Amino acid sequence: MKLNALFPFVLLVAGYSAQAAENPRPTSAPVSHFQGTCESDPDGRKFAARACYTRDNPADAGYGAEYKRPACDKSVPVTPPQRQLMARTYVRAPDYMKGKLCRLTQIFVTEDNTEGPWGWGYWEGSDRPPGTGVFVAISGSELKKVASVAERENETVDLLLGVRGEKKKQARLVRLKPESARDPELAILGGLAHELGHALLADTNADGVDEHHPRREISGPPQSPCFEDAIIGTSWDADRFHHNMTRWVAFGDQGHNRPKNRELRFNLYRLRERAERGRFDRVNDLLERIYRGPEFVTVPAAIRPEEDFVETYKEKVLSDAAGQSVEFRFGRQKISVSARLKSDVVDKKVECLRALGLLTGQP
Ligand SMILES: [Zn+2]
Repeated sequence: MKLNALFPFVLLVAGYSAQAAENPRPTSAPVSHFQGTCESDPDGRKFAARACYTRDNPADAGYGAEYKRPACDKSVPVTPPQRQLMARTYVRAPDYMKGKLCRLTQIFVTEDNTEGPWGWGYWEGSDRPPGTGVFVAISGSELKKVASVAERENETVDLLLGVRGEKKKQARLVRLKPESARDPELAILGGLAHELGHALLADTNADGVDEHHPRREISGPPQSPCFEDAIIGTSWDADRFHHNMTRWVAFGDQGHNRPKNRELRFNLYRLRERAERGRFDRVNDLLERIYRGPEFVTVPAAIRPEEDFVETYKEKVLSDAAGQSVEFRFGRQKISVSARLKSDVVDKKVECLRALGLLTGQP
């Protein structure tokens, strides 16, 4: 099956360009693109009012003089119910996330296509002038008052396995079941936090500790090198990561990455092939090991180190969000997002978010 047929929560932050090589490599910690002041927005309406549809995909934006910044497509309106949901979602976000959301250059909504719903987080490097922007896009189909966080997690697993819309196959997967009432705003908040997390990873250059990281051509070393210890050191095969560092992370693309823990290793292509043949034994085993173990907060977190970082940020946001706590059931096991964040391994990852300044609302 075609891998790029799966493009839901795409992320991106793009490859090396010759243009950047003409300028000297930066040597000091990056200055955040989340700049300016935020107006008081107690009901989230100002945030929601800024949203617009876009057809642009930063993956195709080009570099240098060819670069085209993603822009609003006014021919497709964001509907009033979509804006209301966005506003209510904003209200639920912890202050440190609001402080980033209100400083986005633009918040976009995307239309679904045949490949699925998809959103993205995009940080504009200096090789894409003006090189000061930071953008998040969320899929229009996610802006519906239906899903719970558990259902969204299950949908992500379906997309990863290529069984979206195949009810018979989905019935054979062990599913997360919500323990609390449906809370669509929290489900949307999770999706938004994921995409924002990708933009924050690039903005802080968190994964660019190694000077061979392609982003180091345009962005200096991160203010804390914690990614190497707290993410790679705890959970990942460091050699594989360091030989395959990228600025661009597409959904469901493991690259060459593998978890350090043998019990949690998997090859997503093979799991997809098995799923296509209706075989779910291995994937159900893996889901169980991930949810029972202390290492990865979610299934997508186990795909690659960048997703591990981003999903940890997402789960931290969900645990700090206003309102009810997020709890699931997996088989007989009860899962609490807040409790999972307290394992020694995950706590170390959360402390890395803090060291990078991602748990404060200031630029
Ligand atoms: Zn992602």
